[in-house]
Amino acid sequence: MSSFSKSPWIIHYDASSCNGCDIETLACLTPGFDIERLGVINTGNPKHADIFLVTGAVNEQSKDVIRNIYHQLPEPKVVVAVGACALSGGIFSECYNISGGVDSVIPVDVYVPGCAARPEAIIDGVVLALGVLEKKQKEMTSLANSLDQALYLRAEKSDAPEILALQKTAYQSEAEIYGDDSLPALQQTLEELQKDFERPEQVFIKTVVNGKIIGSVRGHTVDDTACISRVIVHPYFRGRGIGRRLVEEIEKTFPNAKRFEVKTGHRSERNLFQFHAQGYQEFKTEPFTPAITWVYLQKERK
Ligand code: SF4
Repeated sequence: MSSFSKSPWIIHYDASSCNGCDIETLACLTPGFDIERLGVINTGNPKHADIFLVTGAVNEQSKDVIRNIYHQLPEPKVVVAVGACALSGGIFSECYNISGGVDSVIPVDVYVPGCAARPEAIIDGVVLALGVLEKKQKEMTSLANSLDQALYLRAEKSDAPEILALQKTAYQSEAEIYGDDSLPALQQTLEELQKDFERPEQVFIKTVVNGKIIGSVRGHTVDDTACISRVIVHPYFRGRGIGRRLVEEIEKTFPNAKRFEVKTGHRSERNLFQFHAQGYQEFKTEPFTPAITWVYLQKERK
């Protein structure tokens, strides 16, 4: 076990538990079972946590909170669902307000069954989670060390599931900026994305490292304008020039375009900074929701 997984920090969230699984979870963290002696620390701050431990079924109120906490955890992160309710809704699964287990909202890495889940089982789940965390950490490190070998290739329809998963991960930081997850990129379904791939004028570019897609962009032409959208980069690999290179690559795929157009939210400072640095200038704004105003930027081909 590496030093990384020797002192994992856990954040615990009760999604709508009857309190049974919470009491067992707290028993793990307090002197009875005392997983702190193994280096595990309970934190209230998702930005400090490595493991997200959820008890209880998902309901309409807890759904957004789960997403919000999950996306604040830094990469790599692991989710542990504890108890029958967190696995599937449990005895509450037929209730009018229950939408299911935790994996109906976010990806779950470890499932700990039981009603209530026993402390020994929860500790076993955390130990399993440490293995997953270490594997993810190694994968991230290996990808980060291979960024100089990144390939920028045309994406195919078969890449749609991987690109959609990346898109949903990448756009969470935007949802956090605006406190609004109604962004079209977060609502898009696999079927819609696959249809986009079938549009003859649509071009997708992907950034591939060690066979994994860590960035993507798409674009199409309208008359002599190339409309570029969804410049997405996995949060772990941001700030390394991948977004800038994606825009350069997609611009090259429209050799006949006289003008390029992009859009982003008015408070997305990182995007605005990047587009300005690449020569784009604002030319119009358009309200989208009370929280989000689209800013349109353009650039003439030199
Ligand atoms: S699994 Fe059982 S003990 Fe745990 S929250 Fe659900 S009903 Fe309560």
